[in-house]
Parts: sequence; structure tokens; C-alpha cells
Amino acid sequence: MLTRLSSPGHEDLYRVEDRESGLRGYIALHSTRLGPAAGGLRMRVYEGDDAAIEDVLNLSRGMSYKNAAAGLPLGGGKAVIMGDPDHDKTPALLRAMGRAIDSLAGRYWTAEDMGMSPEDMAEIARETRFVAGRDQGMHASGDPSPVTARGVMCAMQAGAMRVWGKADLSGRRVAVQGLGHVGWHLCLMLHEAGARLIVADMDAARVASTVKEFGAEPVAAEAIHAAEADIFAPCAIGGVLNARSIPEIRAAMICGAANNQLATPEAAELLEARGILYLPDYVANGGGIINVAAEILQIADREGWVADRLSAMQANMAHILTLAAAEGVSPAVIADRMVEEQLLAQAV
Ligand code: NAD
Repeated sequence: MLTRLSSPGHEDLYRVEDRESGLRGYIALHSTRLGPAAGGLRMRVYEGDDAAIEDVLNLSRGMSYKNAAAGLPLGGGKAVIMGDPDHDKTPALLRAMGRAIDSLAGRYWTAEDMGMSPEDMAEIARETRFVAGRDQGMHASGDPSPVTARGVMCAMQAGAMRVWGKADLSGRRVAVQGLGHVGWHLCLMLHEAGARLIVADMDAARVASTVKEFGAEPVAAEAIHAAEADIFAPCAIGGVLNARSIPEIRAAMICGAANNQLATPEAAELLEARGILYLPDYVANGGGIINVAAEILQIADREGWVADRLSAMQANMAHILTLAAAEGVSPAVIADRMVEEQLLAQAV
């Protein structure tokens, strides 16, 4: 059922198949140098196997970076199931994936990602103990979004310190793109911190609720990146920082939860050239994996441990920004370099 494929640059890539349940997918282990590879399980329709492989390899590599940047003793891995979660997901299919994960004997820990729910994780847990992101049981971590939002706040304060000389966000205008799980919690915290909110979402009801709850100013979804704001916080989709959007950005700083905000590595250079401070996404949004890690590592004092990790993440972000300013390069370059050095040091 598990077939090992060649995958240069990654430790392992497996094809997962189960005829009976119709399961087709992949598990990629980018690196286990810092600890067991951890990263979510995604279910979505792919154009074909090549697209699924490309996705799982990119995502697992991204998890190595995110886990290392968060200072966690975890490596990077990811799994994908090819199919429509609304139509093709069955308990048998999930359990077959659970058996595949179990056969890796703890080298890979899964959790929720796109197309998966805590109930699905519970189904997978019937076959393996190497699953987190559950909402019941010892050490269950539940919805990571509030902790992700807390982490983004911490990162934003580190950025504010560098741009304006004080971490305080009161009176700052923050343009939040995407008012879902993370975006909504971020709006709540920013509102409590005295920031002024400018918001956009494709879902009009979500916009209406932030207008009502927090006095936010709504703008069209296609215009949020260009809002007259101090901070732009992408919390919806990836690729929003690109050659078309960057010349229109008016904010002095970008800090949000969305994964893969930079459409290309050159986008970081464009932001740098415009004097816009970009806070590397995988550092800023590390709160979610910190929350999941507390479950994987079975931390007894979850609250205290998570708070310590978020403080360490904030200090790490401040350090990245200081180095970037000293070298005159994008913080994205510094963050990548720091993680790569960390992975290399562990290999020796
Ligand atoms: P979500 O699906 O709950 O919310 C996303 C929101 O963005 C939805 O309200 C959606 O309507 C809106 N949206 C989609 N396209 C949009 C567009 N073009 N313009 C404006 N709004 C748009 O997702 P989430 O859990 O809040 O995650 C948000 C982002 O943060 C994602 O990129 C996710 O990968 C990343 N992230 C989330 C977590 C977490 O803990 N949930 C952790 C790390 C990273």
C-alpha cells in the first residue's frame, strides 16, 4: 500500500493506495533532522498525480521551515489525499490513511489541513496514535486559529517596534484580508489593543460582523491590499504579494497569517525596494503549529508552554528584522538563511 518513490531534496516520498476504500495520496517527509516530521493532511481535487506530488513536496518543505523557525523539536512533513472532501471522504478511506501513517512508526505526525476536520482526525486516530489536531482526549489541542492569531499579534508588535519605535498598536490602521478562523480572532485582538480596522472578505456576513463588533471599515476584497493603512495583514489566501499588487500597497508593514504570501521570491525584493517591511509568513503564523506541537509533545502545562513559545517567536522575529536592516536585505532572506543553517547544523 505504501510505495517509496525517489524525491531529491526530501528524505522520503511515499505513494499511498488502498483499492478497497479508493484512497490515493502521498506522504512526504522533507526532514526529520530536528525531530519527527509534522504537518497536516490535506484533501482536495488535483489535476493529476504530478500536481499532488508537487503540492505535498512543497508543503512538507514549508513545514520544515515553519517548525524550525518556531524553535520546535519537529521536522517537516505533509500528506495529501486526492479527491473531493465533500463527496469522496469516507471513514474507510480515512482509516486506510491512518494505517499508512501508522506504518511509518512515528516518523510522521499528521494533523488537520484543508478539507479535514477534528472528526476526521478522530477517525484516523482509530488506526494510529501519530495524529494531532484533535478536539478530544488527553492533550487535545483543538482549533489552532486563536493561537495563530496571537502569534501574528506578537509578530506585528515586533514589526511595529522596528518601524515606529514602539510595539503598541493602538491607533494603528490595520487592513485585514480574510475574516475566517484566524482573521476574525486577529480583528478581536487588534480591536482590544486599540487598533483601527479596515476589513475585506468574499463573505459579506463576515464583513458585516466585524463592522458591527469592532467598528471596522469595510472595503472591496480586490482593494484591501491598497487600503490607506499602516499594516496590511493577509489572512486569506497565498500569492497576494505579487508584481501587480506590490506597487499599490500603501502600508509600511505586512504581517499576516496566510501561507505563501509571496507569489515569487522576487516579490520580497520588490517590497524591500519600496521600503515596505515584510514579516516572513511562516515565522508570523507559527502559533498554529506551536499549538499542535503541544499535543504531539504531550505538554502538561499547555498554556505556559505556548506562551513561552510565542514570546520566543516574537524575539526571533525581532532578531530577523534587526539582521535584515543591518544587511539591507528582505527579512524573508534572513529567515530562510537562519532555518537552513539550523537544519545543516543538525545534520553534522
Ligand atoms: P478560513 O478558511 O477560516 O478563512 C479564510 C477567509 O478568507 C474566509 O473567510 C474566506 O471567505 C476569505 N477569503 C478567501 N479568499 C479571499 C479573498 N480573495 N479576499 C478576501 N477574503 C478572502 O482560513 P483560516 O484558518 O482563517 O486561515 C487563513 C490563512 O492562514 C490561510 O492561508 C491558512 O493557510 C493560514 N494559516 C492558518 C492557520 C490556522 O491556525 N488556521 C495557521 C497557519 C496558517
